[in-house]
Amino acid sequence: MNNSLNCVGCGFCCTQVICRMGSMLYGHYTNPCPALARRNDRHVCTLYLSDPARYEGILAIGEGCCFPDNPLRRDITKEVLSHLGSRDKP
Ligand code: SF4
Ligand code: SF4
Repeated sequence: MNNSLNCVGCGFCCTQVICRMGSMLYGHYTNPCPALARRNDRHVCTLYLSDPARYEGILAIGEGCCFPDNPLRRDITKEVLSHLGSRDKP
């Protein structure tokens, strides 16, 4: 994990390879992971949402991005930055 870079919910990590917990539940070669869903412009793990207390530590929720230099994350970051920039323009 990269604690210095937040998760922005791009979903790239979970579409590339299913995590250890996901593979135990759904199978090693399941792709995409059936727990991956989109909510309010973010990708989320519905397994985590089903029982946050149980899965937070196991899935390293809140511990930063595990795949920071990926194209989806870069695009979302650029879009957010440009939005913030345009908001400040007169
Ligand atoms: S690649 Fe990083 S930013 Fe994207 S969903 Fe995974 S942890 Fe979050
Ligand atoms: S179980 Fe959750 S964290 Fe693991 S691959 Fe599936 S969506 Fe991602």
